[in-house]
Amino acid sequence: EIHLNLNVRDLGQSATLAINERSAALAADGRHVFRFGLGQSPFPIPAAVESELKANAHQKDYLPVKGLRNLREAVAEYHRRGQGVEVSAEDVMIGPGSKELMFILQLVYYGDLVIPTPSWVSYAPQAHIIGRQIRWVQTRYQNNWRLMPEDLERLCARDPSRPRILILNYPNNPTGETYSADELQALAQVARRYRVVLLSDEIYGELHHRGQHMSVARFYPEGTIISSGLSKWCGAGGWRLGTFAFPRGLHWLLEAMSVVASETYTSTSAPIQFAAVRAFQGGLEIEQYLQQSRRVLQALGQYCWRRLDGAGLHTPRPAGGFYLFPDFSPLREQLTARGIGTASQLCNQLLEDTGVALLPGSAFGRPDEELSARLAYVDFDGAKVLTAAGDEPAGP
Ligand code: PLP
Repeated sequence: EIHLNLNVRDLGQSATLAINERSAALAADGRHVFRFGLGQSPFPIPAAVESELKANAHQKDYLPVKGLRNLREAVAEYHRRGQGVEVSAEDVMIGPGSKELMFILQLVYYGDLVIPTPSWVSYAPQAHIIGRQIRWVQTRYQNNWRLMPEDLERLCARDPSRPRILILNYPNNPTGETYSADELQALAQVARRYRVVLLSDEIYGELHHRGQHMSVARFYPEGTIISSGLSKWCGAGGWRLGTFAFPRGLHWLLEAMSVVASETYTSTSAPIQFAAVRAFQGGLEIEQYLQQSRRVLQALGQYCWRRLDGAGLHTPRPAGGFYLFPDFSPLREQLTARGIGTASQLCNQLLEDTGVALLPGSAFGRPDEELSARLAYVDFDGAKVLTAAGDEPAGP
């Protein structure tokens, strides 16, 4: 007999996992698989950060639940340096991945979770596990799926005093899009009017292809939590380290989260935290690493975008990160003739026929009939390419 919490009973296997398992099975059969499904940095961890981890392998004690003091200071300084926002060490919480911090935030917060679609695969399942209401907010293909302030306004105006958290992710997974300063300012105005808490997921901020990432915290400092971490820009997803920076007025959330953290994971891995200090302190080596990463991703992103656009697929032009979100509906007739009517069918068939692994847009909250899919252009040897990017003009 199975006794499961009702909230988790209906959570199926994620589309990501299913595609990855099928890809692995095909590869084991000797087929070449183009691994455009997995959203993982292709680059090695910067050498200085890796050696800091080795030097700190002996760190064995539990650390403070909110994080190592020096790391909290380094993260605060990093945000001040990068975005000119007022953040001090007391405002920072370290966790084992920003994903874990998001989960705990949802756990302690009382109110709605507002998510624009398409959005990263885990926000909604986290809300389901907790039993939290999700309010999906409308976005449109014509706006490249960016959230428009009037749509946020419409949602908030329905029940103006309801407490809400809006997750805003930019550069975006899965679209590669980001927001301009004017757009962020307009969204910030609406958020301020309705006192919406913004969870600004800036995990790809350093991978803005032109190095011009701008945080919404510049325009709504009192209501924005900045989420970041080592997983994407430092190539260290498996290290598991995420950071949240809170405004003073939201310290009650930080305190509640640290109570839950202390009763669950206790503290984030000690050697990783010591190494992360080096990463957030920055400096010439880290800056060069980032510049090279951006050059490679920009060149590849624009190249892939031109190919998809040239093939008639509507695809937002990527500004950051390593994803593209083509919409295959211009090919609907040909696809229907082959019995393909949904994004899931399209991705399964594409994998079987060509070995190209994409993830269906439905995994990111879009209707399956819409025929959108995510392509992660990270199937290359990042170490080799990064070395070459140091002295060659950007290609292809
Ligand atoms: N947010 C977005 C948009 C992501 O794509 C990811 C990772 O894929 C995360 C958050 C989670 O990152 P972390 O490794 O810090 O948990």
